[in-house]
Amino acid sequence: MSSSTTAFASEAVQQKLSRLDINSEHDLLLHLPLRYEDETHLYPINDAPEGKTVQVEGLIIHSEVLARPRQQLVLQVEDGSGIFFIRFLHFYGSQIKRYAVGKRVRLLGEMRQGFFGAEMVHPKCKVVTENDALANTLTPVYPTTAGLSQTMIIKLIGKVLNNIENKSLLSETLPDSILDKYQLAGFKASIVFLHQPSPDASAVSLLARTHPAWRRIKFDELLAQQLSMRLHYRLRHKRNAPAQPAKNKLTQALLAALSFQLTSAQKKTLTEISHDLALHHPMQRLLQGDVGCGKTIVAALAALQAIENDCQVAMMAPTEILAEQNYQKLSAWLTPLNITVVWLSGSQKKKQKNEVLADIASGHAMLSIGTHALFQDQVEFDRLGLAIIDEQHRFGVHQRLALCSKSKQADIVPHQLMMSATPIPRTLSMSYYADLDVSIIDKLPPGRSPVITKLIADSRRNEIIMRIHDACQTGKQAYWVCPLIEESETLQLKTAQETYETLSQALANLNIGLIHGKLPTAEKSALMLAFKQGEIQLLVATTVIEVGVDVPNASLMVIEHAERMGLSQLHQLRGRIGRGAETGVCILMYQEPLSKIARKRLKIIFKHTDGFEIARQDLNLRGPGEFLGVRQSGVPLLRFADLEKDHDLIEAAQTAAEEMLTHYPQMAQQHLKRWLEEKNEYLRV
Ligand code: ADP
Ligand code: MG
Repeated sequence: MSSSTTAFASEAVQQKLSRLDINSEHDLLLHLPLRYEDETHLYPINDAPEGKTVQVEGLIIHSEVLARPRQQLVLQVEDGSGIFFIRFLHFYGSQIKRYAVGKRVRLLGEMRQGFFGAEMVHPKCKVVTENDALANTLTPVYPTTAGLSQTMIIKLIGKVLNNIENKSLLSETLPDSILDKYQLAGFKASIVFLHQPSPDASAVSLLARTHPAWRRIKFDELLAQQLSMRLHYRLRHKRNAPAQPAKNKLTQALLAALSFQLTSAQKKTLTEISHDLALHHPMQRLLQGDVGCGKTIVAALAALQAIENDCQVAMMAPTEILAEQNYQKLSAWLTPLNITVVWLSGSQKKKQKNEVLADIASGHAMLSIGTHALFQDQVEFDRLGLAIIDEQHRFGVHQRLALCSKSKQADIVPHQLMMSATPIPRTLSMSYYADLDVSIIDKLPPGRSPVITKLIADSRRNEIIMRIHDACQTGKQAYWVCPLIEESETLQLKTAQETYETLSQALANLNIGLIHGKLPTAEKSALMLAFKQGEIQLLVATTVIEVGVDVPNASLMVIEHAERMGLSQLHQLRGRIGRGAETGVCILMYQEPLSKIARKRLKIIFKHTDGFEIARQDLNLRGPGEFLGVRQSGVPLLRFADLEKDHDLIEAAQTAAEEMLTHYPQMAQQHLKRWLEEKNEYLRV
């Protein structure tokens, strides 16, 4: 609990506040209004604009409870300029008395034309006396919870703002140089302003959160994020890692053996990685790029540089099918170079597993590829120098930490190369990934033609089946992706089996295979091999093929119930085709009626093939929380700043963070304490 958790309200009130995540006076100060109401001036009744919240005042000249068309309290109010009606559809007996004829009331509400003329329904209504003072600041409207009134919140915040002993809560944490450079308003002035804005404040900029006071708060929030991430980054960089300078022997040998040339984008990322590996502190690099851009070969070359320096390498993937495929690819590349590559998985037989474990422990196995099995208790590396984590977002911090602590040499931390399956939008990598160095493969290998995407209603299923039939007859290969059933794995499996059976009946002269997550590993790999070799023409699959599967001859894909899938999943699936000479065609089958969000998603995936653009739009649709996946756990999400709209502030905060850590470390600490005191436990590995 924070230091300022000392009673700032009664226990009952504090309990309610904690429902709003307010646990300290600082939290109260940062409980910022959703919007504002203008009670600083009065409109004459006759001039009050319609359709807008306005304040008027007048005498009650008539009061009546109507029984029809439904029970309601109707008042008539007059102010010299005009007369209008007030209607309360819910009211207490006490209100009838309070709003008696002759009373003066101040009303805040939306004026509109009703059955009898101008009226307000359920306005905010206060009995006043003539010349009662008007508010001199805009009235904030706060997010609240049951039993906690706006007035109560306003009072509590006012108390904190006015308490002279709270000076440190409002002190400035930024040096003048940064305030000047980024033209930022002061912290205290900004907080006070947002809670009590003067009547002449631009309502539009307050609402749009572009007002300088808002900018300052957002900047502070982003700065705290950058500071904390860069601080962790610096701490980790102080640790020791085995320096693995490029020797260009094994790597050259592999490059010479490849059937293709690296693209310039691949070369650039490889140079960055190679440079990091040569240093004696641990690399923390994220390698990202669109589906199919060729991350695997870059990872293989990085592994070779480590192996050239007699370091062991571990490569971890989140699913067996992906790990297995990495194993096949990398052993095909590395075994000819006399390097021992081993495979470790949960489903392995005990005897075989023990052999592999012994090879890893003795240091004989130079490259170990596997799933979560790689960081289980029995695993110990002799001298782990590089950990490669494929699909990094599917692993939690602790799992990555577990893998990296698997070396016998306890004081040495391996280098880490993380890979992401789908591109990460720039704003996201600048903010939530600021604790990593990022390498981007921004171009696909030559000769790829974009996949053609078709949206077809599921009512035309038979037509689609016939098209698949005809295509497979001409030597093409296709995937048929079964519907995703998130609620039940059993049901998902059942559906896949049924799909397989109906397709086998409808397409009796084709060779059809069924692959799903529950199959034993050996069967899965046999199926994938048969598909790769062209023996299977149509592969019915659950979403297990989503990541990484690479069969260049497959050029067709049907995805059933595409409306149930997320954008990155669809993009990943579609990325399985269009990898060979044949133009890929992806048929997205959907079932009507489509929800609004599903319609949006399908439109995006239909229109775009560029993964970075799809990712950007996905981030917009879902927000960072969902986008970040497992990585999110423990990471405080941004409350005020918006990744898309506040792009310029993210950049400013990034530069400012480095500046503060270097030149104003104490103020940096103060700033972090203010913003992340409780939330700073997410040390990443
Ligand atoms: P991803 O980045 O999605 O993991 P992969 O590493 O699986 O992509 O690569 C996709 C395909 O592209 C593989 O078949 C791979 O061999 C091939 N590939 C990679 N780099 C090149 C290149 N420079 N030129 C041609 N093909 C390449
Ligand atoms: Mg991959």
